Amino acid sequence: MNSPIRAAVKPYPFYVRSADGPYLRTVEGEELIDYVLGYGPLILGHRHPQVRKAVEEQLEKDWLYGTPYELEIELAKKIISHYPSIDMIRFVNSGTEATMAAIRLARGYTGRKKIIKFDGCYHGAHDAVLVKAGSAVSHYGLPGSAGVPEEVSKLTLVVPFNDVETVEKVAKENQDDLAAIIVEPVMGNAGVILPKEGFLKELRRIADETGAVLIFDEVITGYRLGIGGAQVRFNVVPDLTTLGKIIGGGFPVGALGGKREIMEKLTPTGPVFNAGTFNAHPVTMAAGLATIKELERGYVYEIANKAAESIVKVLEQEAVSKFGGVVNSIASMFQWFPKAEKVENYADAQKADKNLSLRLHEELLKRGVFIAPSMFEAWFTSAAHTKDVVERTIEAITEALKVL
Ligand SMILES: *Cc1c(COP(=O)(O)O)cnc(C)c1O
Repeated sequence: MNSPIRAAVKPYPFYVRSADGPYLRTVEGEELIDYVLGYGPLILGHRHPQVRKAVEEQLEKDWLYGTPYELEIELAKKIISHYPSIDMIRFVNSGTEATMAAIRLARGYTGRKKIIKFDGCYHGAHDAVLVKAGSAVSHYGLPGSAGVPEEVSKLTLVVPFNDVETVEKVAKENQDDLAAIIVEPVMGNAGVILPKEGFLKELRRIADETGAVLIFDEVITGYRLGIGGAQVRFNVVPDLTTLGKIIGGGFPVGALGGKREIMEKLTPTGPVFNAGTFNAHPVTMAAGLATIKELERGYVYEIANKAAESIVKVLEQEAVSKFGGVVNSIASMFQWFPKAEKVENYADAQKADKNLSLRLHEELLKRGVFIAPSMFEAWFTSAAHTKDVVERTIEAITEALKVL
């Protein structure tokens, strides 16, 4: 098992042979409607023809150059045009690499060591951020990870999401050594948790007042909440942004971008080291560019958001009315937190009934619908989740809820 959450599927993980549009096809020949979508990247659905075409065209030309080429510039220009915080961008191979480089860059730029992260936010699988992280770390009930030296964890200060007062207090107490505040602007790795009105603006203010670099980790929210991600939607411009998932169109990718003054500190123009044999991989860049061009046409958000809205409505009407809880949602991502009164931070999320959430996963899987095997992940919809697909999903939800 190559990534831990995949082992959590109940009663046991299924093996996939192929996929198309909204469907996964298992080795047993079963067809499953997919709401996991590779844990976020596949906003066009599986095997989208435009992405496939772009990848095939790139394969015709070769797949690794070790030197600059036009397509990486084209994708960079697109992203820069969409993200107000991004003057310059560096492509890497995963979200993990992106946040690792962003934090190193913030430290190199400020000459400070500490970072503030939020309880339950997930920024990948490297030492600085494996402290009270979300996603599979939460699912398996771990505080962080063994193997991370205490000397390293000590530099990561963890505060609750949506709690301006605590952020401000911790930031000011550590002002002299605070390099960065890193946040998922909408939490997507502890279920879905939205920022309260004004919360992100307050983070901007606190970062400005303390001289810390504000990093929005938009690896999930980038291109999912809309073309410009969370920063455009909430109208708050961070200093650095990390991207991943959608911008690779289903191929391995990460990126960090931000203010010129900060980004110029990266090698080769500056002293903060980053490099990668596969950085800006041609096949990934082709798939990412094709994906973003589809997103610019608008129809993707219309279909995906509508699908999410319809399912959220049914969960509210049927699941919440029967078991209680709340459904948190934005654009094409959502999660039901059974039995919780409200979920505004990770502590709230933990009060929800995660076993009931897992039971829903299990019963839906029996009925041909695949959702993440953890309440600490999100449901995602795509351009392939058309009306008939959603209707079949809703029938499955109704049936599943009867036996919970
Ligand atoms: C998935 C994710 C990451 C890690 O990305 P990988 O490509 O899995 O390394 C980082 N931050 C957020 C917000 C994510 O959702």
